[in-house]
Amino acid sequence: MIDLGKYEVWFVPGSQTLYGEATLTKVAEHSRQIASELSNAPEIPVKVNCRPVMKDAANIQELCLEANRAENCIGIVTWMHTFSPSQMWIPGLKILRKPLLHLHTQFNRELPWSTIDMDFMNLNQSAHGDREFGFITSRMRVPRKVVAGYWQDQSVRNEIGTWARAACAWHDSQALRVARFGDNMRQVAVTEGDKVEARIKFGYSVEGYGVGDLVDRIQQVSAADVDSVVAEYESSYTMAEPLRAGKAKREALRDAVRTEIGLRRFLDEGKFGAFTDTFEDLHGLSQLPGVGVQRLMADGYGFGAEGDWKTAALVRAMKVMSAGLEGGTSFMEDYTYHFKNGGRVLGAHMLEVCPSIAAAKPSLEIHPLSIGGKADPVRLVFDSQTGPAVVASIVDMGDRFRLVVNKVEVVPAEEPLPKLPVARALWRPEPDFKTASTGWILAGGAHHTGFSLSLTAEHLEDFAEMAGIEFLLIDENSTIRSIKNELNWNHAYFGGRAVRS
Ligand code: MN
Repeated sequence: MIDLGKYEVWFVPGSQTLYGEATLTKVAEHSRQIASELSNAPEIPVKVNCRPVMKDAANIQELCLEANRAENCIGIVTWMHTFSPSQMWIPGLKILRKPLLHLHTQFNRELPWSTIDMDFMNLNQSAHGDREFGFITSRMRVPRKVVAGYWQDQSVRNEIGTWARAACAWHDSQALRVARFGDNMRQVAVTEGDKVEARIKFGYSVEGYGVGDLVDRIQQVSAADVDSVVAEYESSYTMAEPLRAGKAKREALRDAVRTEIGLRRFLDEGKFGAFTDTFEDLHGLSQLPGVGVQRLMADGYGFGAEGDWKTAALVRAMKVMSAGLEGGTSFMEDYTYHFKNGGRVLGAHMLEVCPSIAAAKPSLEIHPLSIGGKADPVRLVFDSQTGPAVVASIVDMGDRFRLVVNKVEVVPAEEPLPKLPVARALWRPEPDFKTASTGWILAGGAHHTGFSLSLTAEHLEDFAEMAGIEFLLIDENSTIRSIKNELNWNHAYFGGRAVRS
């Protein structure tokens, strides 16, 4: 569903007319070579489109206007092979609305010791040309990522690729529509927020529907449509005995499938990329949507339970960022703790965990749900893959959005969990349980998160930079004091409200 290959970044070399045509021709040639190799690099999921060498202010402003308008352009990468006086970048940078990456590299890897002369020096000037560009972007406070190093190096390509993925998610977010079936779970604070401010900051809209609108669509699903998706279930999952053909709960399975199809049609017809529901508002539905939500997430839709539209949009952004990567990405909740071996978090939800993170073929099961007063819901049960992962939470602090990210290590369960009827992941947070959970709580991080085995904290940091929102990372270098200080500094930086009146 998510195809990053249709997007491109523009590679924009900067120079000036001072050097003469011969030098500018070389700059253009070198730029084309760099762009072409970056475009073919597997670490970079989008095309890299080389633009002409920028020589004056009018040139640059036109380029920025064009980038703003270009539907498939998700950002621009600048590089000053020669010296490009940066006053001429001011009009362009003032209007640029696409993410910016400043690549600080040089065409030549090594100094040609025996042949170096002033011609070489005049062509290979990024060591000072990029400093001039760095000054103006700093002075103008243009949000950007600076990537320094040789352009053929793996680490440089990884950094560009990470930024490009975040830029794809940012691009997607500008037009994202989030369908919200029902409202917020009553009285819950952290799942709420300012939807108008979210639209201003992130671009996405949150659009409310009565659950009856969804029920209408579900009722239009034909038995033949249900049959074909049931067949898909049969081939994809290990099916629990009561759900098999002719068995007691077969009709509940068909109900779940009908819900999935209706939900998918509703989302596709309205061009929604994310959605929420709530167990408190299920009028007309026989069961809380479980397996259908899980499968929609696996297809790239964002989801947040209990009306959590911020997490739904975040999960969608993380789905876009992680398209095509190994691992998996899901809605998640810090559910319960294991105070042994230094402390572990068992993450899960009532039902809605994405099978993209599953370690093995999921098991399709039906069990009672202790809340909501509806029929037993059908869900996929599995253990998560293990390895490094991130959990991310976006909260509305009243005067700004804050993105809290914790690096974690997903570890195997110490023993089987035969009675636990939901998908789950067990992790050890960085730097340790005490620091991570204290820091998360000090930061007001939510219980709902976007969880990903595909992404790193850097993807989310780049995304936060593009959005201009607060970013708090809890990782192996964090201490409780460093987190407290950072929160206080961020409060001052973002011009936060007075501390408790
Ligand atoms: Mn929840």
